[in-house]
Formats: sequence, C-alpha cells, structure tokens
Amino acid sequence: MNTTKRALIVGSGIAGMAAALSLHRAGWAATIVEKSPRRRTGGYFIALYTEGMDAARTLGVFDQLHTRTPRGTRTWDVDAFGNRTRSVGLVEARPNAAAVLRGDVEEALWANLGDIPVRFGLSPESVDERPDGVEVRLRDGHSGAESTERFDLVVGADGVRSRVRSLVFGGHEKFLRPLNAIACAFQFDEQTPYVAPADGSIFAEPGRALWVFPLDDRPPTALFTYRTKDEDGQFTRPPKQVIRDVFRDVAHADLVRHALDQLDRAPEMSFDSVHQVELPSWHTDRVVLVGDAAWCMTVYAGLGASSALMGGQQLGETIERHPGDVAAALVAWEASMRPFVREGQRAGRVKQQIFVPANGFRARLRRRMMQRSGRKFALRDAQAALATA
Ligand SMILES: Cc1cc2nc3c(=O)[nH]c(=O)nc-3n(C[C@H](O)[C@H](O)[C@H](O)COP(=O)(O)OP(=O)(O)OC[C@H]3O[C@@H](n4cnc5c(N)ncnc54)[C@H](O)[C@@H]3O)c2cc1C
Repeated sequence: MNTTKRALIVGSGIAGMAAALSLHRAGWAATIVEKSPRRRTGGYFIALYTEGMDAARTLGVFDQLHTRTPRGTRTWDVDAFGNRTRSVGLVEARPNAAAVLRGDVEEALWANLGDIPVRFGLSPESVDERPDGVEVRLRDGHSGAESTERFDLVVGADGVRSRVRSLVFGGHEKFLRPLNAIACAFQFDEQTPYVAPADGSIFAEPGRALWVFPLDDRPPTALFTYRTKDEDGQFTRPPKQVIRDVFRDVAHADLVRHALDQLDRAPEMSFDSVHQVELPSWHTDRVVLVGDAAWCMTVYAGLGASSALMGGQQLGETIERHPGDVAAALVAWEASMRPFVREGQRAGRVKQQIFVPANGFRARLRRRMMQRSGRKFALRDAQAALATA
C-alpha cells in the first residue's frame, strides 16, 4: 500500500511553489493546481529582504534567483516642479536587500519543481474536510469538467482573494481589511528621461503618489497609488483612465507625464484595491493558508514575497518535524510565523504614510523624515567615494 501523503497546493505563486517544494522535500507527494491557463511571468518590482533570501537558500533556489539591484542605486523625492531631494528607496532601506521582479522569484522556484505536477486551469469548487482526509472537487475553468480527489493536506496559496479561504474559513468580508487605497503597478519599456538609470524617483503628495523603481538590466517598473474611500467606484471605468484622472492636474511634472505615457503603452499591469488579510487562525487540522491568502501585508510593507517564501519553506520543514501529526505541525508552524507576520502587517499600515501620505501634515512629516534619512545616505555615499578616491 502506498503510504506517501498527498498535498494539494492551490495557487502557483511564490507561496504555493515554496510550499510545494518544502513538502516534496519532506517526502510528500505535492500537486499544484492553478486557476490560470498558463504560468505568468514578469510582474512588478519587488524588494527581497534577508528573510526571503534565507528561505530561498534553504529551499535550494537562491542560486537561480536573478537579481537586478542597480549598482550605486539612489532614490530621490521629486516635486511637481522637478525639484529633487535625496530620499530612501525600498532597497536602500534595509541592508542586503535585492531588487527583483516577482517573476524572477517565481522563475527560480519553477526551475526547481522537478517532477511536482502543476495542473493549470483548475480551481477548487468545494473542500470537504473529514477525519481521514480532505475531499476536493476541482473544476476546469475552460471545459467545466469536474473531478473529486482526496488529499491529506490542502494548502491555500491562492492570493489575497483566496478561494480556499472563502470555502473553508468564510467570506472575504470577514477577513479583508481595506486600507482605502488603490495600487497600480506596471513595467516601463524605456528609462525615465533625465534620470540616471540606477536612480529611483518618488512623487508623493497628500493622497497620491508615483514610485519609479530602477532595475539593473531593464527599464524600471512603476507604482501609481492613491487613497480613496470609494474602492468599488474605482472599478467602473478602465484603470488607465482612472489613473490619468487622479494625476491629471500634475501631469505637467516630467516624472508623472512620462509614467502616464508609459502606462498608456503598457501591455499589462496590476490594478487593485489594497487590503490586508487578517484571520484569527490560518489553519484547521488539514487545511492551511499561506502567503497573501493568510496574511497579505500589502505592497506598502515590502515583505509579502519574503514572507510567502518563508511561510512556504517553513511549512514542509515543520511538518517533517512532526511525523504523523499534521495538525500539531500546523499549530507549531503558525506559532513560529505569527510574530514576523504581525510585525510585517504593522509595518504595512505605518509605511502606507511613506508610500502615500494621507494629508498635508503627513506629507510634510514624511518629506522631513525622508530628507533626514536621505542626507544620512548621501553622507555615507560621500564617505565611501572619499575612501576609494
Ligand atoms: C504592486 C505590488 C508591489 C509589491 N512589492 C513587494 C515588495 O517590494 N516586496 C515584497 O516582499 N512583496 C511585495 N509585494 C507583495 C508580493 O508580491 C506578494 O505578497 C506575493 O507575491 C504573494 O504571493 P502569493 O503566492 O501568496 O500570492 P499570489 O502572488 O497572489 O499568487 C496566488 C496564485 O494563486 C492563483 N489562484 C488564485 N485563485 C485561485 C484558485 N481559485 N484556484 C487556483 N489558483 C488560484 C493565482 O492565479 C496565483 O497564481 C508587492 C505586491 C504588489 C501588488
């Protein structure tokens, strides 16, 4: 009789592939199902921090991780008249951080999946947990065909609007905490004119902001973000038009104008309202949520990818340490992840003011803070230049 335990991982993003790899290493038969008909690539800028890189090393995927941190990168606050002051970007903010695209992390994980099957176009229709296993009804989004399979563990790694979460734990309204903001990320197809290729730029005003993230070997990616109490209302018109309207009166600023033109040309982008996910517990005895599905911290925290890698990597490792007792392993895994996630979510809420200040007072406070930090970074650069002169 085959006694190998079977895990179903729903979602082939960073959390899903990290969980599949770690479970595979723990001796489980892992299967990934992905709603999309094919694998996505590319994506937006991500600052990867040490916690994520350590998890990537433990998973054995770090050597395949393509990083794109520009040498000597600096970040500037830019105002509507083109005045620049030294500021601090996500990569400079923490030591040993790396600039990557989301697709770079996914590519490194994908390259290491080996014989772990990934079945595209499938989504769970029902998840029925029983004492001896979990029955999952899967639906093919294209043909409509359904099949039911039994697993020993189901991992919901299906993102902020997780289907597994809504089937097992409850509706989105129970767990999504809106930050009353929209984030729109996309790739440029050329460098920003008049800006050194290694330099990042931030245009941050009360209620709206544009961040341009430099990358080493390709044009930057950008993030438009703005605050709104009417999140639903932002989805009634084409996103490009919505963004243009929000930034229309500052479109004379070079940085904003160029980014709006780039957005018009962008073949794809992500445009979404910003929510944190908060659950009292991320698991039952045999169903567990990982990554954004469990604890989305938002773009503002800069820790979502790192925590998805960590959470996925530690899941298999913890299960291996609790042979024959998945339920106990899930309790231990959650206990070890909670402090990091709690801090990351707190950071996400606080750093929203840095990304997109709520009002004039916050904007002035932010500017002073960024200038002070920016001066420190400028001084450090000057000292380094003198030391090597
Ligand atoms: C603009 C932006 C910038 C960011 N910048 C940073 C940063 O600088 N640093 C950082 O660490 N993090 C950053 N993040 C956060 C980071 O990208 C996410 O936290 C991370 O990618 C989450 O990975 P995940 O695998 O949990 O979820 P996702 O990436 O959402 O993957 C979920 C997967 O599940 C699939 N799926 C969904 N529903 C179903 C279903 N019903 N059935 C089957 N499959 C399904 C999806 O198609 C997808 O493939 C940023 C996020 C955004 C939006």
